[in-house]
Amino acid sequence: MISGKTKLTGFFAKPASHSLSPLMHNLAFSHWGIDAVYLAFEVDQTNLRQAVESIRTLDMLGVNVSMPNKTAVLAYLDQLSPEAELIGAVNTIVHQEQRLIGYNTDGMGFVRSVNETGHPIKNQKIVVLGAGGAAKAIVVQMALEGAQEITIYKRLNATFLPLKEYFVKVSEKTGCPIRLHDYADESQLALDLSQANLLINATDIGMGSKKDQLPIADVKLLHSQLAVFDLIYSPSETRLIQEAKKMGIKAYNGLGMLIHQGAIAFELWTHREMPVQNIREQLEQEV
Ligand code: NAP
Repeated sequence: MISGKTKLTGFFAKPASHSLSPLMHNLAFSHWGIDAVYLAFEVDQTNLRQAVESIRTLDMLGVNVSMPNKTAVLAYLDQLSPEAELIGAVNTIVHQEQRLIGYNTDGMGFVRSVNETGHPIKNQKIVVLGAGGAAKAIVVQMALEGAQEITIYKRLNATFLPLKEYFVKVSEKTGCPIRLHDYADESQLALDLSQANLLINATDIGMGSKKDQLPIADVKLLHSQLAVFDLIYSPSETRLIQEAKKMGIKAYNGLGMLIHQGAIAFELWTHREMPVQNIREQLEQEV
């Protein structure tokens, strides 16, 4: 029940209405009997400053931010967590006594979701396809968690060199060797995959208009020592996951990452654990 004391949390993105976060957080509030509500708000860079200021004005617990605001929002915050600083993007804001603190729970959420499946990150050789916002978040966190080496594949376009420099900095700060290669370099990919423990698809190849496509040209490069993680959760099984499973290879979608990034935000706002298993069952029906 909404009361006079109900606290507000929410989601600032555009588009916002498709998000599963309201369902996830409202279920968790109701599980704990917390008098709070989570709403989705259409926010982009035209109204982001006012929206962020409203966190203080309306005494909100905090918000999640998503596209196109994850980097732009940095300008309006008082403090950043170390991983948000390194990633250069924020997906969660915590309101503490008029101060707004930015966190990035995407990478940590991904790492928790991998650990939940029984696969380690520490001392593992990891190949990441794509180098966008999600890839940066997971690479930083996996480097912080002690991955043995991370190799990233990205198209050779205008953002290649700046990203190469960025990952050199992340490598220096974390001590984890990180290399960026041209996505078109199939022989290098074959070599890296042959030695890898984890393959992560952080491109959007496998969803929307690309749902019938595969992010690697030759599925025979997959092998039994590899676990496959696709950050896509809708469809629940991308072609990559289907092909991996056909070969008897363990393969997981991005629902775990979505739930755990939300669970960490929930912990930051409420200091309570999200009932992850209940929420997974509900979300599986939605995607
Ligand atoms: P993004 O910033 O737009 O990055 C997309 C990446 O995919 C870029 O590196 C892009 O390459 C690459 N890419 C796209 N089409 C390609 C193609 N045909 N060939 C090679 N590379 C291609 O997107 P994002 O926010 O990082 O999201 C990436 C994926 O993760 C999406 O599928 C998204 O749904 C998923 N995601 C899941 C969660 C979760 O909670 N499970 C959270 C965030 C994102 P260029 O750099 O060369 O353009």
